[in-house]
Amino acid sequence: MIDTTTHSVAAIIPAAGLGTRMGAGIPKQFLELAGEPVLVRTLRVFLAHPAIDLIMLILPPVHLETGKDQLIPFLSKEEQSRIIYVAGGDTRQHSVQNGIKALPASIERIFVHDGARPLVKGEIIDRCLAGIEEHGAVIAALPVKDTLKEVDEGCTEIVGTVDRSRLWQAQTPQAMDLHLLERAYEYAAATGFIGTDEASLLEHAGVSVSVVMGSEENIKITRPDDLKIAAALLRKG
Ligand code: C5P
Repeated sequence: MIDTTTHSVAAIIPAAGLGTRMGAGIPKQFLELAGEPVLVRTLRVFLAHPAIDLIMLILPPVHLETGKDQLIPFLSKEEQSRIIYVAGGDTRQHSVQNGIKALPASIERIFVHDGARPLVKGEIIDRCLAGIEEHGAVIAALPVKDTLKEVDEGCTEIVGTVDRSRLWQAQTPQAMDLHLLERAYEYAAATGFIGTDEASLLEHAGVSVSVVMGSEENIKITRPDDLKIAAALLRKG
C-alpha cells in the first residue's frame, strides 16, 4: 500500500495513446529506446527529481496490466512504490482527467508530462517549479524559429506570413497549482471544450499561464524517425 499522506507534488504522465501514427502494433511509449521502453526513460526523470513525490501513470485500459508488467523489471522497489497506475480515456484530456480524479488528497501541485517525451531533463522541471512559485501555472515551450505561412482553405496558396516574434511552441511539462487545473478541467467539461494540452484548458477558463524555456531535445516520439533521433540524442549525451 502506498503511503500518500505526505505527498504534495504529483506528476501525471499521460501514456494512454495507442500511437497509431507510429504504425508499430504496440503503443509507442512501450517501444525500445536504447535498451529500455520509452516510458521508463520518461518515468525515471520524474522519479529522480527530488521535488516529485508521486507519479500518476495513465495507461491504455487494454494495456493496464501488460504495460505494468513491462515496466516493473526496469524500476526499483522504491520507484515502484511511488507510481499509481490509472486507466486512460479516449483523448489525452480524458486520460489526464482520470489521473486528476485518482489523486490523493494531499496533492497541491501538479506536473503533466507526455509519456512520449523521454528526453525531458530535470532542469526543465526546475524551471517549471520556479515558474509555479511566481505565476501559479506554467508550461515549457520554445520560441518558434521557422518562418510561418498561413495558407488558404485548400492548403495550396499562401495567404500570408505570420509574425513569429510572439509565437512559442508548447511542450510538456505543464505545471500548476492543483486547484487551477481542477477549475480548468471542470470548466472544460461544463462547456464541452476539448484542448490538446493543459494550458489550452487553463486559458479557456481565464487562468493566466506563463512560459519557461523548454528544450530542443525534449521531442515527442510520434513517428518512427523520432525514435532514431531520440537514440542519437541519447548517444550524444
Ligand atoms: O497523441 P499525442 O502524441 O499528442 O499524445 C500525447 C501524450 O498523450 C502521449 O504520451 C499519449 O500516450 C497520451 N495520450 C493519452 N490518452 C489518449 C491519447 C494520448 O494518455 N487517449
